[in-house]
Amino acid sequence: MELTFTPEQEAFRAEVRGWLEAHVPAEPLASMDTAEGFEQHRAWERVLDGGRWAMVTWPAELGGRSADLIEWLIFEEEYYRAGAPGRVNQNGIFLLGPTLMEYGTDEQKARYLPKMGSSEEVWAQGWSEPNAGSDMAAIRSTAERDGDHYVINGQKTWASRGAFADWMFGIFRTDPDSERHRGLTFILVPLDLDGITVRPIQQLDGETGFAEVFLDDVRVPVENRLGQENQGWAVAMSTAGFERGLMLRSPARFEATAKRLVELYRRHADTAEPTMREAVVRAWMNAEAYRLNTYWTASRLIDGGSIGSEASLNKIFWSELDVQMHETALAILEARAQLLAEAPAAGDVGGWLDGYLFALAGPIYAGTNEIQRNVIAERLLGLPRS
Ligand SMILES: Cc1cc2nc3c(=O)[nH]c(=O)nc-3n(C[C@H](O)[C@H](O)[C@H](O)COP(=O)(O)OP(=O)(O)OC[C@H]3O[C@@H](n4cnc5c(N)ncnc54)[C@H](O)[C@@H]3O)c2cc1C
Repeated sequence: MELTFTPEQEAFRAEVRGWLEAHVPAEPLASMDTAEGFEQHRAWERVLDGGRWAMVTWPAELGGRSADLIEWLIFEEEYYRAGAPGRVNQNGIFLLGPTLMEYGTDEQKARYLPKMGSSEEVWAQGWSEPNAGSDMAAIRSTAERDGDHYVINGQKTWASRGAFADWMFGIFRTDPDSERHRGLTFILVPLDLDGITVRPIQQLDGETGFAEVFLDDVRVPVENRLGQENQGWAVAMSTAGFERGLMLRSPARFEATAKRLVELYRRHADTAEPTMREAVVRAWMNAEAYRLNTYWTASRLIDGGSIGSEASLNKIFWSELDVQMHETALAILEARAQLLAEAPAAGDVGGWLDGYLFALAGPIYAGTNEIQRNVIAERLLGLPRS
């Protein structure tokens, strides 16, 4: 592993930094889990796309910069350093985009990728159903072939940004006699079709970015299928692999939180409990360890290695670290942590509380940590299934 950056990588960093300094909005945008904030974030994605920074890892001919994983990590470090807005089209650009490049036809790539890159079309992810969460192979929503259409019936749930998104991708049971992961097909569904009801779900913080999506006799053209009929599981696993691998949560996000935590501690050092000092140091060290480990993994991947079940280790590490850092911040803030963000004395309390509520979801989304522990036990440690 190379522990220093090359002159080209340093030049790339300088270019990202310069562009972000000139373009990142001076005021934070409204939450993307509100209608207003969602559109503000969509507009920001257009600005990013204008600078060819919306999808840096995509090939240059598709509007990206063909960045390798090290450049991606550098981009992310600069992105968080600049305090740039969250990515509203993460499901599209980071998950569906690479899947389309792998499984899509030329027509599908031409149809979907440009509007995804510019976020003219923002995507929701439609895996989960009321009885198919951890056990995704229990999916019951059906897509019945009728000539050159699929007729879809069923219910998806927990679709992030589903309340405002334009499209949803998901897997549906096309073979009624199939069980588990066989007989499923990956289909791209516009959310404005007849028969679709999107019902927002209120979150712990009162906002409604999530949605349940009900599908009643929804007719979707067969050309919206990604990959082969009844082979959707393999396509979905490829998408989920991008999510659990390096792209979902880069170390820069946690380093930024660790840095804010150190600053918070410094401001409150005279009132904070003595044990807080150790908790802050541990958080900072863990964020740094995650960074170094990720650079190591990226170097291995660039050298032709692969990331398999050890992605589960990463997922547990960053999600537990995020909870620990936010808990420490709230403990340092003591009673002030109870203040609502809009209270005059709140200062930066609101940010920590919002961050804490979202951190609590980390051990659940992208596959719960219990499931990741099963993966580690069985596939990395070779322990028996029961
Ligand atoms: C913030 C957030 C965003 C999300 N976004 C999306 C999205 O965009 N699209 C989407 O489709 N879904 C999304 N989800 C849903 C998420 O994927 C599911 O919540 C998750 O997979 C768990 O499924 P479940 O909620 O049905 O819980 P269940 O599967 O019912 O699990 C309940 C509990 O049982 C445990 N458990 C279940 N099976 C086992 C087992 N075999 N061994 C040990 N423990 C087990 C789980 O770990 C969990 O603690 C999101 C969730 C969150 C919190």
